[in-house]
Amino acid sequence: MSNECVKVVVRCRPFSEKEKDEGHANIIKINKDAGSVEIKDPKYLLGNKENNNTFSNNSNNGDIEQTSKTFTFDNVFDENTTQFELYNTTARPIVDSVLEGYNGTIFAYGQTGTGKTFSMVGDREKKELRGIIPNAFDHIFSYIGRGGPDKKYLVRVSYLEIYNENIKDLLKPKSGKLEIKESSDIGLYVKDLSNFVVKDVQEMDRLMTVGNKNRSTGATQMNAHSSRSHSIFTITVEASETDSDGQEHIRAGKLHLVDLAGSERQTKTGATGDRLKEATKINLSLSALGNVISALVDRKSSHIPYRDSKLTRLLQDSLGGNAKTVMIATLSPASYNYDESLSTLRYANRTK
Ligand code: ADP
Ligand code: MG
Repeated sequence: MSNECVKVVVRCRPFSEKEKDEGHANIIKINKDAGSVEIKDPKYLLGNKENNNTFSNNSNNGDIEQTSKTFTFDNVFDENTTQFELYNTTARPIVDSVLEGYNGTIFAYGQTGTGKTFSMVGDREKKELRGIIPNAFDHIFSYIGRGGPDKKYLVRVSYLEIYNENIKDLLKPKSGKLEIKESSDIGLYVKDLSNFVVKDVQEMDRLMTVGNKNRSTGATQMNAHSSRSHSIFTITVEASETDSDGQEHIRAGKLHLVDLAGSERQTKTGATGDRLKEATKINLSLSALGNVISALVDRKSSHIPYRDSKLTRLLQDSLGGNAKTVMIATLSPASYNYDESLSTLRYANRTK
């Protein structure tokens, strides 16, 4: 049931040094050829070899508890996948279509600590560890560099975050809460969101650094904050071309790169008051996104529920229609993350 315009892939990160020291079991098996991910229920791993050996037999018997589950996706990536391989398979085709004037969106979805930011941003200091956003900069500017004399490009960047259903401009944090507006000629837009024209990779990189600093005050708060907010880095590429009759043609493509809030169930930890309200909003916007994507994939649906969250409203013109979308669901391999990993796989499977 694959859909040309919406793709869902899964990436499993390696064990961290700490997890290795603690000796956690691996419950994730990635089969690249089949495009599948198998997750084992750690209940059946506990030192019982006989149980281990029977785990694939009962999978179709509803009466017997399943010891493992298998899901298939458009692509699956294991701990050996390089950043460049991820870029080439998931992001490159979308960036190419943005350069041709279409819109595209790339999401990273998953439990906090599973590699969303690593996949989207990575370590910008080390070439081989750079994630999708810096690789997209390179790709866009090297394409532009090859353009002919009759072609002109304008590249613009904006960077915002949605925190507690409030939109904040990360490149101009003093502007306070921003509103989504709709106009008949340009459709939906964020009023007063700043847009910076960038001329090269270094300028884009600097803007990203500024935006990241504005996400939160201290480095120690960064993970707590990023686990509860969605960040959207948007690159707009406008190309103007003069044809042989001297007519100018302009086409514009927009690419949204979205690092979603952590998918872990934020309400289960006994949150109360503001924290509970915040948690409920995160769960709502992630499920609204899941509903939109699965409605897009299921071509029978005529109603796409974009209006259910700020996130989906904001991305409305870049989800569905001619736009291309990739969801990268990130996983931990370790047994102690079983519940969250299973729920990530279910979410990703539903949106496929
Ligand atoms: P998230 O943004 O989902 O909370 P991070 O991207 O911050 O997670 O990743 C958590 C930690 O795991 C970081 O130290 C990161 O460098 C490391 N990590 C994540 N994915 C990978 C990977 N594929 N290869 C190597 N290290 C990874
Ligand atoms: Mg992160």
